[in-house]
Amino acid sequence: MSSTELSRSAEGRSSDGGPGVVGHRGAGGAPIAAEADATALVGQTTGAQWLSRYSSSLLGVFGTPQRVLVRGAGCLVWDADGKEYLDLLGGIAVNALGHAHPFVTSVIASQLATLGHVSNFFTSPTQIALAEKLLDLTRAPAGSKVFFANSGTEAVEAAFKLARRNTGPEHKPKTRIIALEGAFHGRTMGALALTAKEAYRAPFAPLPGGVEHVPFGDIDALRAAVDDTVAAVFLEPIQGEAGVRPLPAGYLRAAREATTAAGALLILDEVQTGIGRTGKWLASEDAGIVPDAVTLAKGLGGGFPIGALVTYGPDTSALLSAGQHGTTFGGNPVATAAALATLHVLENQQVLAHVRDVGEHLRAGLATVDGVTEVRGDGLLIGFDLDADVAPAVVTAGLEAGFIVNSPGPRTIRLAPPLILTTEQADRFLAALPALLQTAKDTQ
Ligand code: PLP
Repeated sequence: MSSTELSRSAEGRSSDGGPGVVGHRGAGGAPIAAEADATALVGQTTGAQWLSRYSSSLLGVFGTPQRVLVRGAGCLVWDADGKEYLDLLGGIAVNALGHAHPFVTSVIASQLATLGHVSNFFTSPTQIALAEKLLDLTRAPAGSKVFFANSGTEAVEAAFKLARRNTGPEHKPKTRIIALEGAFHGRTMGALALTAKEAYRAPFAPLPGGVEHVPFGDIDALRAAVDDTVAAVFLEPIQGEAGVRPLPAGYLRAAREATTAAGALLILDEVQTGIGRTGKWLASEDAGIVPDAVTLAKGLGGGFPIGALVTYGPDTSALLSAGQHGTTFGGNPVATAAALATLHVLENQQVLAHVRDVGEHLRAGLATVDGVTEVRGDGLLIGFDLDADVAPAVVTAGLEAGFIVNSPGPRTIRLAPPLILTTEQADRFLAALPALLQTAKDTQ
């Protein structure tokens, strides 16, 4: 094939410049079908066979996956053996509109078929429109800005670098950063330095320095730690990975006062709690404060990977200047189109009001179940404690019975289902839960 033919083929155009060929041809060989799904590439086999191939081909950082999932629709997913599950975890608070949402799918497919990636030497309409939309939804004041990343940890990493640039008015070094005990902010080195769990941190020492963890929810401890040597305080309004632990009422306001007085940034990590998860755009919305930055990811792309850092106001937004941070994929046209489509549905179908209603219904129902000792959370980010250390066994019993839930602790179950979970689906789980608890206790 000549180089002219190659470039024509790659552009998908016929020689007359018209709409062009449908099947793309590579550097040679057989034509590639214009339409196919991944099954055509990977084939089909049983769950057990997939898992055996997994263990010999994938790095063991996630342990053994619980199931091999092949398909989803709304709040349901199916495994490689054809078994159906009600997904009450939503890819850990990611699948905001469930699986295979037709509108989001269609927008992603059409954007990819139009312009998939451009690099950050360029921009695209979806990137700009999404930034504007996020500034609006997060009620960011004039002069606020957005940086797009590809995941939660990258959004936090950007926020960490923002904090490092907060040197104070006379460029006095501010080397300390405060986070909370129980915090989870991600697994890359900066985010890991903010993450509290020793088992995650210890194997990777030394981590970026200057981070101190203060007791969760203790405002006096925070006040005592925050002085003018502190660059930033990182807080999750609800600690998701620690078992869905909301900060006590008044804590965010007190943290705002302490950070403002010390010239420290208040950075809210809403990677798990943001974008409607709690029935509000931000879980911190009701606290009546303006933070300096917010990190977002998880639900933002409706299942498509995207993260974002929102910097509030012109001064904070000016802390990172040209060349000081970047990413190849961040804010690419497909990811930003996916997020715009997700936000469009969340807004136009009153999903946030639904989250508040069904979340309240689910939490009220959970509180009446024998063996449930405490129910926490907001909207559809729910944690509940059990009267015995059987949470992992409940996860297993749930899978057997066709429910996906998660155990962030030995006696804690977390639910973070798609935000479109119906009351009937919530009731189905509530009705099954007593038997799941019994099975879990019997198998201990
Ligand atoms: N921050 C919070 C609050 C999270 O819950 C998570 C993930 O669970 C992260 C950051 C890291 O996000 P990701 O797993 O997309 O890197």
